Order: sequence, then structure tokens, then C-alpha cells
Amino acid sequence: MAAQAPPGSEGFDYLIVGAGFAGSVLAERLASQLNARVLIVDKRPHIGGNAYDCYDDAGVLIHPYGPHIFHTNSADIFEYLSRFTEWRPYQHRVLASVDGQQLPVPINLDTVNRLYGMNLTSFEMKEWLQTVAEPCDEVRTSEDVVVSTLGRDLYNKFFRGYTRKQWGLDPSELDASVTARVPLRTNRDDRYFADTFQAMPRHGYTRMFQNMLAHPNIKVMLNTDYREVVNMLPWQHMVYTGPIDAFFNHRHGRLPYRSLRFEHVTMPREQFQPVGTVNHPNEYGFTRVSEFKHLTGQQHACTSVVYEYPCAEGDPYYPVPREENAALYRRYQEEADALDHVTFVGRLATYRYYNMDQVVGQSLAAFKRLKVRHEAATQT
Ligand code: FAD
Ligand code: UDP
Repeated sequence: MAAQAPPGSEGFDYLIVGAGFAGSVLAERLASQLNARVLIVDKRPHIGGNAYDCYDDAGVLIHPYGPHIFHTNSADIFEYLSRFTEWRPYQHRVLASVDGQQLPVPINLDTVNRLYGMNLTSFEMKEWLQTVAEPCDEVRTSEDVVVSTLGRDLYNKFFRGYTRKQWGLDPSELDASVTARVPLRTNRDDRYFADTFQAMPRHGYTRMFQNMLAHPNIKVMLNTDYREVVNMLPWQHMVYTGPIDAFFNHRHGRLPYRSLRFEHVTMPREQFQPVGTVNHPNEYGFTRVSEFKHLTGQQHACTSVVYEYPCAEGDPYYPVPREENAALYRRYQEEADALDHVTFVGRLATYRYYNMDQVVGQSLAAFKRLKVRHEAATQT
């Protein structure tokens, strides 16, 4: 398919498709560690993929593709990214609008006490949960995981409506891993994430990506679908980070990716809501409202928020975790594994509901494999 150049010839050693976390980490590693010549191509007019941020017309730093909060338990991943950015410590907090109150999510001791007008201790909450939880033999779906720990009422109030909106599917049709992302707490910890490292790039994600891609061996080509250039420019190995089914022209059928429509609103007031994100599980067409100044710490007379409206059509944002999709993905994966000159990395190309840190980890692992190949090739 490619204008593949023989080793040592003119052209690029690597053609990287997609300038999000997956593509940018690999570009940086390959250029800086192997002195490889890298061309990174993105069809969007910017680097950063879905983590891209920019200033809106009012001068407020926003995330056009929805709120991105960095969190990880991996010191290695945090250390790696710290080479390209300073950080602003930030712990994300989320409230859910339920029964006329704004209550902490993940569900914790305060959520339950305020919702039901109780005054339980942590110990009592554990006992109470045993009276409402509906144990099941095998926790398989996103409904099972919640109902078996929190019971039907909390499930209906916090999870059922939100999940149906977000995925266009009932929680009983989704893998347990989806709602299992949101833990249950019997203490008063109201942070959305419990990871060791929780921070925002001090000068934004885009600046961090600029620093990653600043190596002289890296050429960046924007507004370009890789198909426009793949046969024009000589390259030896491709790193592909777009949707895997699109790479193979959907020959086994389309993999479902859930999309979102983002509605950005700027208001002439300093603050709109008390925390970074307010979820609306049961009302409206949107799932959540996020206010960027909480995340970024920016001081500004105006504030900007984003409403997320889930939809089926549009840019692919989320792989949809359920068995039939995993089975279809495996058919594409088999074809991908058989291609020696292409490496598939990232959330879309490996059809995994990965957070940013997981994509960085996956990309660093892919780099190690490419380095071994490179060393083997240069020794022969
Ligand atoms: P992407 O960022 O999607 O990059 C892929 C790139 O490939 C895109 O820029 C695309 O334009 C390009 N591309 C695709 N096809 C082609 C083609 N044919 N030619 C050229 N270019 C192409 N993670 C967290 O850790 N914390 C969060 O708070 C968080 N919040 C999120 C909120 C939302 C609304 C969403 C959707 C995701 C969130 N994530 C969060 C997940 C995070 O966005 C991803 O883990 C990460 O951005 C994935 O990086 P990637 O490089 O794999 O993919
Ligand atoms: N979820 C829910 N209610 C909430 C928060 C999350 O039902 O208040 C479910 C929903 O299915 C969602 C999933 O848990 O898609 C994962 O939530 P998370 O906040 O991790 O989603 P993301 O930030 O990746 O969109």
C-alpha cells in the first residue's frame, strides 16, 4: 500500500498517523531515542488529538473536545510527561444533580446521607449497603456491577439514565468495566479520582504537545488525511492511531464508536458552578457540564463551560465496550497483527476505553518493541 522506502534511503523512517497522545509519544521517542526521521500527520488542524486545548474568543482556556483531567498511578508515566510540562496540582470533583440536590459522585457517605436524610457513619453505611445491594452470581454487565454493590435505587438515580444517554444502550448491554470506572466509597472522599498523581499541564495540553514534537527530526503535517500522502512520501514503518476499522476500509463491518456533540458557552461571570463537573443523569439531552476554570486555575472575569450531548454519528470518541464489539475488533486485530510494517496504537486503533495515561503507557511499550526491531535491523 505504501511508498515504503528501503532502510537508509531518503524519506521518513516513520509515518505516524494521528498527533494525539499515542502518535505524539511515539514521534518523540522515535526521534529522540533512535534519531529516526518522523512525519506525523493529522487530519485535524491541530496537534493534541482529543486532549487539545486552546483559548476561546473571550480568552478562556478551554478543551474543545471535553474536559481532560490527567491522573495516573504510574510514576514512570508521570515522570515521562514531566519532561514536557510543569504541572498544576488539581483534584477533580463532580456533583450529580439528583432529586433536586447536587450530590457527590462517586457515591460516598455524604451522598447517601444527604439523599436519604440519614446520618450514618462509614461503618453503618457498609451495613446499610448490605441491606440494599442485590448480589448476583456473576457480575457481567454495567447493571450488575452497580446493582450488586449499591442496590436498585441508587442505580436508577445515578447510573441508569446517565448510561442510557451516554451510550444509547442500557447498562445491562454494556460490559461491567464501563460503570466500574466509578468506584463506591464509604468514606467522605469526594475526589473523582483516587490516583497518586493528579494534575493539569500548567500551560495547557497543547503546549505540552508542542514541546514533545519540537525535535528537529519531527515534521508535523496538519489538515491532512494520511491517505492523501501515504503513497506520495517514502516511509518505512507506519504508526497508526486512528480508528482500526477505517484503516481496513470497514471490510468486516463498522466498529461502533460513541460520539459527542459539544456545546461551548462563555458567560460574563467569574464562576458558573461549584465544582469542575456537574452530572445530569436524569434530565436533559446532555450528560454533564464542565467549567474549565476549575481545571485550569485560570483567573478571568468570564467563564466557559461545555455541555456534552452524546450521539451516534460524528467524530469517534469512545469505543463501546461489549462482547460483540470486542469480537469484531478481534477480527481487525488479526489483520493488524499480520501487517509487519504498521503498528497500531491508541484508544481508537486498539479499540480500548483508555484514559490518557494508559495511552501513554501503551505507546511507551510500543516504542520498546519498535526499538528492538530497529536495533535488529541496524545490526544486520
Ligand atoms: P486521539 O486523541 O483520538 O488521537 C487520534 C488522532 O488521529 C486524532 O487527532 C485524529 O484526528 C487523527 N486521525 C484519525 N484518523 C486519521 C487519518 N485518517 N488521517 C490523519 N489523522 C487521523 N482521559 C483522561 O485520562 N482523563 C480525562 O479526563 C479524559 N476525559 C475525556 C473526555 C472526553 C469527552 C473524551 C472523548 C475522552 C477523554 N479522555 C480522558 C480520554 C483521552 O481523550 C484519550 O485517552 C486520549 O486522548 C487518546 O489519545 P489517542 O492518541 O489514542 O487518540
Ligand atoms: N456513569 C454514570 N453516572 C455518573 C457517572 C458515570 O452512570 O454520574 C457511568 C456512565 O456509564 C459513564 C461511565 O460510568 O459512561 C464512566 O464514567 P466516566 O466519568 O469515567 O466517563 P468518561 O469521563 O470517560 O466519559
